[in-house]
Amino acid sequence: MKDLKNIKFWLFDLDNTLYDGATKVFDQVDRKMSKFISEKLNVSIEEARKIQKNYFQEYNTTLNGMIKNHKIDADEFLEFVHDVDLSFLDKDKDLENEIKKLDGKKIIFTNGSRAHALNVTKRIGIDKLFDGIFDIRDCEFIPKPSKEPYKKLVENYKIEPQYCIFFEDIARNLKPAYELGMKTVWIKNDEPWAAKYSDSDFINYKTDKLAKFLKEINELR
Ligand SMILES: [Mg+2]
Repeated sequence: MKDLKNIKFWLFDLDNTLYDGATKVFDQVDRKMSKFISEKLNVSIEEARKIQKNYFQEYNTTLNGMIKNHKIDADEFLEFVHDVDLSFLDKDKDLENEIKKLDGKKIIFTNGSRAHALNVTKRIGIDKLFDGIFDIRDCEFIPKPSKEPYKKLVENYKIEPQYCIFFEDIARNLKPAYELGMKTVWIKNDEPWAAKYSDSDFINYKTDKLAKFLKEINELR
């Protein structure tokens, strides 16, 4: 872990990374996406679910598939799917303490919306700790793991990749970061689609608890 002593750019995915997937917050978003598709395309929830999963596979986000194939309004979609009950999310003092101690720029990099990122981080009690949120609009709706948003993010925040680390629960999203020269950390989980490729060389570290991992880095300094 000594190679993490000089990190000065900290990139965090949002959902299932800054909070535990066991909270099932993202399950609600997932169900709202099915509902949106069902209503928009006038199909059953079952059929909508299939479309949703196909688009996620093919376009990396359901939203991207819906834009490409049905020309939907992205804002309407984002507002609808992120309108979820966040009362399951508690303050995370450990995470707050460790993020506070990190030296350098801290940025959230999400395929979701800025509003959702703000809602979630407020619940956890860490909303004041970041220098920026790079959301799906900033990505021009080209989601992770396409290379473009990573490059744009690096440019925007003047990131030096060799001093940057990226935390993410979807293993495949770590690949472009690694290829740019960043360190990568996979947040362990059992979701088959998120765990796929988690044994790849482009993953430097794995952890089951983000706050614990950050504590170890903070202790190196
Ligand atoms: Mg995630």
